[in-house]
Amino acid sequence: MSGGLVEGKAALVTGAAQGIGFEIARRLAEHGARVAVVDLDRDRARAAAADIGGGAIALGCDVTDETSIEESVAATVREFGSLDVLVNNAGITRDASLRKMRVADFEAVIAVHLKGTWLGVRAAASVMREAGAGSIVNISSLSGKSGNPGQTNYSAAKAGIVGLTKAAAKELAHKGVRVNAVQPGLIRTAMTEAMPPEVFAEREAAIPMKRAGDPAEVAGAVLFLASDLSSYMTGAVLEVGGGRLM
Ligand code: NDP
Repeated sequence: MSGGLVEGKAALVTGAAQGIGFEIARRLAEHGARVAVVDLDRDRARAAAADIGGGAIALGCDVTDETSIEESVAATVREFGSLDVLVNNAGITRDASLRKMRVADFEAVIAVHLKGTWLGVRAAASVMREAGAGSIVNISSLSGKSGNPGQTNYSAAKAGIVGLTKAAAKELAHKGVRVNAVQPGLIRTAMTEAMPPEVFAEREAAIPMKRAGDPAEVAGAVLFLASDLSSYMTGAVLEVGGGRLM
C-alpha cells in the first residue's frame, strides 16, 4: 500500500508466527512497513513472512534469551537499515490455581512476558535512541489490570509490563522514542482456545459488547501506536476489550 500509515518504516514483531502477532505484522506490512517476523520456531516464522509478503523477513528468536533478542534486532537493522517499530507480543500461559501452580509455571510466564519485553525494549532503545525516533508497543492484557484467578503468574507479568512501559517511556521521551502498551481483552486465538469452553463463555458474557475480539482489532490499535497518528502519546495503555473491565 502506498501512503500507508507506517510507510517505509522497519518493524520487528515478536511471537508473530500466529495469532495476534501475525495480524499485527500483517497490518503493519499492509500499511507500508518492512516487517521482521520473529518467533521461537523459525520455520513457522518463515511461513508467516511468506504469507505476509512485502519483503517481510523471518527470524528465529527466543525472547527470554538476551543474545537471541539482541541478534534479532541487529539482523533487522542489517536487513532494513533501521528499526523504527518494535512490538513485544510473544506470550505463553501456564494457568493454575495458587494451590497447583509450580514455581516453574510462574518463572516461565514471567520470563517470556516480563523479561522478554524488557530485553526487547532495551535492545530496541539502544538503536532508536541513536536514531532519535522510534515507537515501541508492548502487549499487556486486561488480566494485568484486573487480575484473573488462575493467572497469578500472567496477571503479575502483564501488570509489570505496564510499569515497565511507563518507566521506559519517561526515560526515552526526550530521545524521540515513544513507548506505549495495549491491553487486549478476550481475543480469539490459540491461546484462548486452550481455555475451558465454559470459562470462555462466562468471560464473553461479561463483555459489554457481548463478543470476544478478533486479532485484527488488536492490530488496529497497535498500528495506531506505531504510526505518527499517535505522535504525542507515550506511556499510554490502550484497552482493546469491547468495554470489559473499563
Ligand atoms: P498465541 O499463543 O496464539 O501466539 C503467541 C506466539 O508467541 C506463538 O507464536 C509462540 O510461539 C510465540 N512465543 C512464545 N514464547 C516465545 C518465546 N520465548 N520467544 C519467541 N516467541 C515466543 O497467543 P496470542 O496471539 O493469543 O497472544 C499474543 C499476545 O497477546 C501475548 O502476549 C498474549 O499474552 C497477549 N494477549 C492475548 C489475549 C487473548 O485473548 N488471546 C488477551 C490479552 C493479551 P510457539 O507457538 O512456537 O510457542
